[in-house]
Amino acid sequence: MDIYSFKLKTLDMRDEIISWRRDFHKHPELGFQENRTSGIVAQRMVDWGFDVQRGVAGTGIVARMEGKRPGPTVLLRFDMDALPIQEQTSVSYASIHPGVMHACGHDGHLAVGLAVACLMYPNKDLLKGGLKFVFQPAEEVLGGAKRMVDEGVLENPKPDFSLAAHLWNEKPLGWIGISSGPIMAGADTFEIVLRGKGGHGALPSQTRDPIVASAHLITALQSIIARNVDPRESGVISVTQVQAGDAYNIIPEKALLRGTIRTFELNVRQLILERIKTIAVEIAAAFECESEVKILRVAPPVVNDEKITGIARNVAQELFPQAIIASEIMSMVSEDMAYMMDVTPGCYLLIGSNDPERRLDAPHHSPFFNFNEDALTYSTAILAATAWTILETL
Ligand SMILES: [Zn+2]
Ligand SMILES: [Zn+2]
Repeated sequence: MDIYSFKLKTLDMRDEIISWRRDFHKHPELGFQENRTSGIVAQRMVDWGFDVQRGVAGTGIVARMEGKRPGPTVLLRFDMDALPIQEQTSVSYASIHPGVMHACGHDGHLAVGLAVACLMYPNKDLLKGGLKFVFQPAEEVLGGAKRMVDEGVLENPKPDFSLAAHLWNEKPLGWIGISSGPIMAGADTFEIVLRGKGGHGALPSQTRDPIVASAHLITALQSIIARNVDPRESGVISVTQVQAGDAYNIIPEKALLRGTIRTFELNVRQLILERIKTIAVEIAAAFECESEVKILRVAPPVVNDEKITGIARNVAQELFPQAIIASEIMSMVSEDMAYMMDVTPGCYLLIGSNDPERRLDAPHHSPFFNFNEDALTYSTAILAATAWTILETL
């Protein structure tokens, strides 16, 4: 099959894809609560002849299609969850659920997932290998992908390659990010409790003040990136929560710091974790306090496979010769698709979607978020044609 026909068929389906997206947009659901959403997805996939498994990681759906000719299996992943945000756009299809909004574009990803499936099912007899569509809950809280992996999404059959795409409102329609190597950072969270001795705010010498200790600790943590990490490598440490005390005149007994760590390389991550622990212990000791450090891995980095990324790039160039294809992307945001790509070589694409002339350029997670819906046709055509090409050539 000529991959260009995927583009032509996608353009024919444009209005339908947009109407699917608007329906999902109007009815957003938070992570692990995507009941209506996954019900619609499952029903469509059944109608189109996919072998559908419901209830994976709660609301997740896995839908398989096996071709007549033996070959590898490609996993295509689409996330389904919305965010706890009160929508402030005035579009006719705005969220009808107060305080919940598709402000990241996952409504678009759902429509793209359905559109790719809709392009594939009439070609079942021509299909080589198999397709595994994964509709994942709870990407925003970075919990859904791991749970799907734990519940066997990468077994029976084990996918050989993986694909996913995110609408990208940082860049305009017509921009496509297809970059090999690490593209999104791995994330850890940390929590540090500093324990001292509380007392009267006017008699500090009788206390061991955890607030003063935490002030020094916050400053010292910044030195890890500036003084310990090799300047040619990168990382982020952000303290994002500081909690201590509840009165003007009382020195509290403890202070709590929380924050996030982002890294691309395992050695940088290891260095940062060790330095955080050492600095917390030593600073606490310097101020006669005690410290307790907890680190929680949230997601590994997203690393694109060179071969699969090359195929995706060639497909995108062939289908959209006018597009700007960027190949040097490294974002500090994280994405739990990393749990699937960690063991399944693949490519995670970014599909430019902003349109400043139509004021569709609010950032992801903004209450004003919206995008140029023609980005959905780019994403659909590229994902479908790339999956097809992988199955035909690998
Ligand atoms: Zn998001
Ligand atoms: Zn997202």
